[in-house]
Amino acid sequence: MLSIKNLSKQFGSKKVIDDVSFDVPQGGIAVLLGPSGVGKSTLLRVLNNLETIDKGTIALEGKPLDLSEVTKEHTCGMVFQQFNLFDHMTVLENITLALEKVMGQSKQSAQKIAIELLKRYDLAEKKDAYPSQLSGGQKQRLALARTIALKPKIICFDEPTSALDPLLTTHVANTIQQLASDGYIVLIATHDTALLDKLDCSIYLMDNGKIIETAQSDAFSKNADQFPRIQRFVQGAIE
Ligand code: ADP
Ligand code: MG
Repeated sequence: MLSIKNLSKQFGSKKVIDDVSFDVPQGGIAVLLGPSGVGKSTLLRVLNNLETIDKGTIALEGKPLDLSEVTKEHTCGMVFQQFNLFDHMTVLENITLALEKVMGQSKQSAQKIAIELLKRYDLAEKKDAYPSQLSGGQKQRLALARTIALKPKIICFDEPTSALDPLLTTHVANTIQQLASDGYIVLIATHDTALLDKLDCSIYLMDNGKIIETAQSDAFSKNADQFPRIQRFVQGAIE
């Protein structure tokens, strides 16, 4: 279980995360939903030690998470909106680099792990290609494979559908749902309401750094009226 309690973060005088609390169980998916600028990405960045926090605690399995250690221990991984691949390296090298340099694996064992991951994400035939030769969906699967190579417990996706063809939304949702079934804790920052009915997830609607409404995706799809703010956001997004 990941427990986030009373998390707050300001940039100057602007409260970007304002007293946010929620839990995500192992195998659970939390969707941080909302329009641009409400603090979704900042929350994921905090978990990945890319931003500091002002207040609050984050605990994993009951133990406080030392955010400065998150990167070192690879507790948490992030699949960035623009994927952040190493463009001058091949698909295979994008994965083996971290395994060798960060995890201290031998070249041989790094390659073995990388090739397994490339097979799992349907990229084996692309192992010698460069990121610029991949489609958007392939780039995203590579970014995911690279994240998983470091064996995180928590995987964060920032706007996983925004750089892709909308036709890929179901595929992305299935991939994310599979990660949850495999036992990862998954967090998604998105404004894309098309993901909601494709995931078994907890929805946290954000506004101005606060969580203003919460729903389970199945309850929301059965009784949207009970969640007026999420419903309004979904309708607004469709119009
Ligand atoms: P979202 O992902 O929901 O679109 P963000 O978390 O990216 O929102 O940003 C929330 C707010 O924080 C925005 O007003 C944004 O301009 C501001 N912000 C984000 N990063 C920084 C930063 N490094 N310095 C100052 N303001 C920032
Ligand atoms: Mg964002």
